[in-house]
Amino acid sequence: MAVSATHWSRDLLRVVYSEDERNGHLALRVCYDDVMTLLFDASLPTLIDTHSHVDYITRREGPKPYPEEASFTEASSVLARARAVGVQAVINPGTSPENFDKVLNLACTHEGLFAALAIHPCDIAEQPTDPSHLPAIMARIQGYLKDPTTGPRIVAIGETGLDYYHDTSAAAAQRDWFMAFMDLAQTNNLPVIIHDREAHNDVANCVAASPGITGVMHCFSGDAAFADTMMAHGFYISFAGNLTFKNATQLHEAAKSVPLDRMLVETDAPFLAPIPFRGQASEPAFVHPVAQKIADLKGISLEAVAEATTQNALRLFSKLHLPNGAFPPC
Ligand SMILES: [Zn+2]
Repeated sequence: MAVSATHWSRDLLRVVYSEDERNGHLALRVCYDDVMTLLFDASLPTLIDTHSHVDYITRREGPKPYPEEASFTEASSVLARARAVGVQAVINPGTSPENFDKVLNLACTHEGLFAALAIHPCDIAEQPTDPSHLPAIMARIQGYLKDPTTGPRIVAIGETGLDYYHDTSAAAAQRDWFMAFMDLAQTNNLPVIIHDREAHNDVANCVAASPGITGVMHCFSGDAAFADTMMAHGFYISFAGNLTFKNATQLHEAAKSVPLDRMLVETDAPFLAPIPFRGQASEPAFVHPVAQKIADLKGISLEAVAEATTQNALRLFSKLHLPNGAFPPC
């Protein structure tokens, strides 16, 4: 019986998963190379990785991205590997004023790569407490948005939010910045990318205090009820590599309950590489197992998940577009 390219590629992914279970980490690198080679010509459906720190993956100096074995790689290679498996667009969120310029430079020089700008809640502690600093940062981002070269590449404000797990920044300061970034998003009619770690209630309260705001709960970590709460506020729910982990039962239940038209997929690379790539530094090409896990949990096809999440991303991030060959570098 003839096997279509699509079926063939899905079967291959399953083979890779089962090899992972039998052989452990040593086999993963081999599997990864096989996937990249064998799927190159397969017609995998289009996916958008809505959250990937390409600027971390590609940094030459300073601490290496997690995990330790990851090494420097060019953004063009990262994006070529992604495109080879159908990942046509990637959003790189900024996390600190120190990386704004790199995030923008990468987005301005790579087709299919887009930027978001804000300060990660864990980086708030490093910000000067001078009261003029917060408005100065908002003005700086506003300047990038108004600039005809960088503005079109910035598709969201993020990542911002609250992180009470790492406990590196005072909660009150995190909330001040979070509210200011949501204001900035509203002023510019942009969605906000929210990081939420053990701060579900406060995140929901802050969002409720910003009526009209829209955006995404990135790397969703709550349960189905919290997903309902955030969807009622108009938010999308984005699942990352941790959805593929075997013990992530609460996330599995959430993924089953979130309607397909409210879901996004992401890698949060270089963090949280999905099975079968666990233990490696993640990258946008690894978003397929996340979509496949959603398909398995919902009992639907990978194609249906890809189609829906891609359309959702294009709807939410209205400035984002799939590559069309007309890319003017800025
Ligand atoms: Zn992130």
